[in-house]
Amino acid sequence: MVHAHFAHWPVRIPTTLTVPETTLYDNLEVTARRYPNKTAVMYYGTAISYQELLQEVNSMASYLLAQGVQQEERMLLYMQNSPQFIIAYYAILRAGAVVVPVNPMNMTEELVHYIQDGNIRLGFVAQELYPRIEPLISKTALEHVILATYSDYCRESGPEVPDVAKAPRIAVQTPSVTFWKEATDYDTISGFPNTAANNLAVLPYTSGTTGRPKGCMHSHLTIQANTVSTVLWGPLTSEARVLCTLPLFHVTGMVHSMHAPIYAGATMVVLTRWERDTAAAIIERHSCTHWTCISTMIVDFLANPNLSCYDISSLQVINGGGAPLPKAVGEKLFNVTGLRFVEGYGLSETMAQTHFNPMDRPKLQCLGIPAFDVDARIIDPDTLEEKGIGEEGEIIVNGPQVCKGYWQRPEENEQAFIELNGKTFFRTGDIARFDEEGYFFIVDRVKRMINASGFKIWPSEVESILYKHPAILQACVIGVPDERKGEEVKAFVVLREEQQGLTSEQEIIDWAKDQMAAYKYPRIVEFVESLPVSGTGKILWRKLQEAAWSKAEK
Ligand code: AMP
Repeated sequence: MVHAHFAHWPVRIPTTLTVPETTLYDNLEVTARRYPNKTAVMYYGTAISYQELLQEVNSMASYLLAQGVQQEERMLLYMQNSPQFIIAYYAILRAGAVVVPVNPMNMTEELVHYIQDGNIRLGFVAQELYPRIEPLISKTALEHVILATYSDYCRESGPEVPDVAKAPRIAVQTPSVTFWKEATDYDTISGFPNTAANNLAVLPYTSGTTGRPKGCMHSHLTIQANTVSTVLWGPLTSEARVLCTLPLFHVTGMVHSMHAPIYAGATMVVLTRWERDTAAAIIERHSCTHWTCISTMIVDFLANPNLSCYDISSLQVINGGGAPLPKAVGEKLFNVTGLRFVEGYGLSETMAQTHFNPMDRPKLQCLGIPAFDVDARIIDPDTLEEKGIGEEGEIIVNGPQVCKGYWQRPEENEQAFIELNGKTFFRTGDIARFDEEGYFFIVDRVKRMINASGFKIWPSEVESILYKHPAILQACVIGVPDERKGEEVKAFVVLREEQQGLTSEQEIIDWAKDQMAAYKYPRIVEFVESLPVSGTGKILWRKLQEAAWSKAEK
């Protein structure tokens, strides 16, 4: 049998990687020494040099230490893409603490979980999100927030600047809030704590294959592995200008649009909001060379009737992952830009890629080959028996980017990792096969997850919110095919008898919209009399899902 990790030999890519045993902050410091005056961040025309970025990080970290921040204390980072996101992230690390990056679409109820789970006392919050966090201050473990206003770093007022980046500072008068400027004006201290490369650095949350969101324990080392791998893969040099449109709270944006450019000394061209004309105009204006994105962004970008008005010829690399890119879109992209979309595959647990397509030989609708030092296998998800070329099964991975496990979830760690031939492998919950050249292709999922435009939705989380509606007796959430997003969230609902006829499907949708992040709520609700259940009373969601997909295929 040819193992997947051997099978990629025909493709000439070095297989081993030297991972620096230093912290992510060290990358910034080294780059700031090498390129002090180089633009680190370009924010709608406002340039911040590496020297300035380092200075702001150190001042903010000094402020955090003055607040008593402890080694490996978890800190909330609840913000959209902005210079402040990057500064706060690196300041938390510089202070020896742990970043808990949270999707800015989360609503108040959802935030409670992260705060409780990480026992979070301090956080960074952008002012447009403050109303959602305010009710939680002092009512949960959260005691204090540092409030960021993007316009503090945006001196531009041109047409490309979104309103959120122009908004003036809001007035909040409570001792639980510190304004960003106050914190960054703090005198830099001289004695920062010594942080080891294997210290906990970031806890990105995911539901993994089951249950409620849980934090993936990434150390500086696991993140360094994919940072260096991204720099080599890109390849990314200090000449690169990286368009940063993926959300930085998510692992792919984090690594490709922030850590890797900082490591390489490249320029991060940051957008707070995705808008296709703005993206094209900014590519032209700042001669962006690299763009990591998600398939729906490409679809939207290419659908722009004005695209030919912009000069996007500076682009050298367009890559991404998180969701499949339809073949036809990949071909259109090639026709328009002359560039092949270079797809990768990975998870929050692996700090983005475990697989990527070789730059010189990418295949379409393909996860690529295992990345540096990754041992990827396919196994039967039930018997755990290893599979060979062309056989479908669950992807399992061993590599330097795999997280240490889930934060305070011993039982789920038991299920997520398995031993094979003396090595520990992480179970991805994705079903795939690999071809004779070692390229992997995803075909299905074992885990109960919906992938809508790359946003991952866990049906059980949506169902638990739906059950709060007084008219709902039972709910089952599935993913149904959607031309634009790949998948869409649909809820089958059984109403309480006394509520029949009193509420509508639309009313449930409108209610759900107010209860959860915009990407999660069901866009389709169907009332049914009953749901299919197993002998033990378990709702057979897979049956409903398979029926929906086969109906769509007809
Ligand atoms: P996340 O933890 O949010 O990064 O989500 C990880 C999941 O995204 C994986 O388990 C896959 O189901 C999915 N995924 C990642 N990359 C791809 C890709 N290139 N094609 C299809 N699905 C992908």
